[in-house]
Amino acid sequence: MEFHKKVLKGAEERIITVNSAYDKASIQDLQKQDLKNKKILLRVDYNVPKDKAGNIMDDERIVQTVKTIEYLLTNGVASITIVSHLGRPKGKISEKDSLAVVAKQLSKILNKKVDFLAITEDNYPDYLQNTVQPRVKKITNGTIQLIENIRFDAREEKNSPDLAAELAKGQDIFVNDAFGAAHRAHSSNEAVAKLLPAYAGLLINKELSVIGKAITEPARPSVAIIGGSKVSSKIDVLENLLDKVDTLVIGGGMAYTFLKAQGANIGTSLLEETLIDKATEISRKAQEKNVKIILPVDHVAGKDFDNNTEVSTVTELTDDLMGLDIGPKTIAKIEEALDDATTVIWNGPVGAFEMPNFSAGTYAIVRKMAEITTDHQAITIVGGGDSGSAVKAAAKHDLALALAANQQVDQELFSYPNRIFHISTGGGASLEFMEGKLLPGITALKDRQKGQQSQQGEDQEKKQEENKELKKELQEEDK
Ligand code: AMP
Repeated sequence: MEFHKKVLKGAEERIITVNSAYDKASIQDLQKQDLKNKKILLRVDYNVPKDKAGNIMDDERIVQTVKTIEYLLTNGVASITIVSHLGRPKGKISEKDSLAVVAKQLSKILNKKVDFLAITEDNYPDYLQNTVQPRVKKITNGTIQLIENIRFDAREEKNSPDLAAELAKGQDIFVNDAFGAAHRAHSSNEAVAKLLPAYAGLLINKELSVIGKAITEPARPSVAIIGGSKVSSKIDVLENLLDKVDTLVIGGGMAYTFLKAQGANIGTSLLEETLIDKATEISRKAQEKNVKIILPVDHVAGKDFDNNTEVSTVTELTDDLMGLDIGPKTIAKIEEALDDATTVIWNGPVGAFEMPNFSAGTYAIVRKMAEITTDHQAITIVGGGDSGSAVKAAAKHDLALALAANQQVDQELFSYPNRIFHISTGGGASLEFMEGKLLPGITALKDRQKGQQSQQGEDQEKKQEENKELKKELQEEDK
C-alpha cells in the first residue's frame, strides 16, 4: 500500500469510530435486500464548470458520485434515475446549461450506457408524466438515466410538492448525494425526501461524518483558518468555531477589519467599516473562551490590486499600501500552530492567491496541511470552492517548480488534493454547515436508527480490522 493512502486510512479510523451528531441514515445502513430490484431516484450535484464551447472543464463533481452509483449497482438496484442542476437557468430552458454533455461524460467514466432524458420546449412541462415516468415503469437491470437540468423547471427552486410528486412517482427510494445543493430547499432534494424513504449517498455521508465531527467534537488541538475577502460572509462561521477550536487564524482581506479594530494602519486594504465593532467583539469572545487568535503580523503589499503592482513585504502598512497576502513571519506563526494540530478546518484563501505575487501564504498553508496529514494523521479539512481550487493550484505550482529544478521528483509528494484528508464538495453548503446551520437537504433525510444492524456496521468492523493490521505494518516500518 502506498504511504499516503496508509496515512489517510489512519486518520479515517478516528472519524469512523466516533458517532457524528449529524447522524443521517445512508445507503450503507440498508441491507442488500432493501436495495435489490429497487428503483432509485438519485439527486447529485453535476454543476460542473463549462468553457465557452460548452465542454466540461473539470469533471470532479461527476467523478465524486461514482462510488454511490457503483454501490447501488453492486447491490442490484433495478434502475437509477439521476437528477441534477447546472448553473442558474432560472426556470427557463437554456442550451448552455444543458446536462447532455454531462450524461456523455458520466457514461464514459462508468463505462456504461447512460440515457439522457431531455427537457425541450416540446415536452415541457409534461416531460415527467410523458417521458420519465413511463420509462421508470419499464426499465430494469441497473439502467441509468439522467434527467435534463431540473432547474429548467420553474417549480424546482420553489420547492414545489407537485414537481416532487412527479419525480417520486414509480420510484422506491430517494438517495441524496448533492452536498453542494444541501443548503437549498428545492423540490428535488427537500420536498421529494418527504415522499420516499430518503437516504444519504456516500458523498454526503462522508461530508457529514468528517465536517460534522470536526465542528462538534473535534480531535484536539484544533485549528481553524478562516480567510477570504469579507468578514460579512464569515461572521457566523467565526462565531460558531470559537466554541470548537483552540486556535483561530484570521487571514485574507477580512483580517484587515480585525487589524483596524486593534488600531493598526491598514492603508488601502479591504475594510468593512461597519464590522469593526463586530471584529472587536469576536476578539473579546475568543479571549474569554481561551481561543488563541492569529492575525497577520506582516504583509505582502502593493499599491494596486494587480499582480504587476510594485510588491513589498512589510510589518506595517503605510497609507498607500494594500495588504494582499500574509508575509513570511505570519506564515511561520501559522505553521507553528499547525505543527501539532490534530484537526484543521480551512475556509478561504489568506491572500489574493489568483495573482502569483500574492499566492505564497495560501500555498504555504496547503503544503503544511498536506504535511501534517502525512506526518501525524491530522484530520485536515478544506471547505469552500476557492480554497479547493487553491489546493489544486498549489499542487500544480510546486510540481512545476520541482520539475524545473530538475530534481528527482516524487510526484505523489505534490498530489496535495490526495494528501489532504477531506476537500468538501460544497461551497455555500460547507460554509453553512460550518456555521452550525441545519441544511434543509440533509434535515429531510431519514435519521439513522441506533443499533441498526447494517452493511455499514459490517464494513466498519472490516475497516477496524484492516486498520489494526495497518497500525501493525506502520509499527513494523518504524522499527
Ligand atoms: P471569499 O469568496 O470571501 O472566500 O473570498 C475569496 C477571495 O478573497 C479570493 O478571490 C481572494 O483573491 C480574495 N482575497 C484574499 N485575500 C485578499 C486580500 N488580502 N485582499 C483582497 N482580496 C483578497
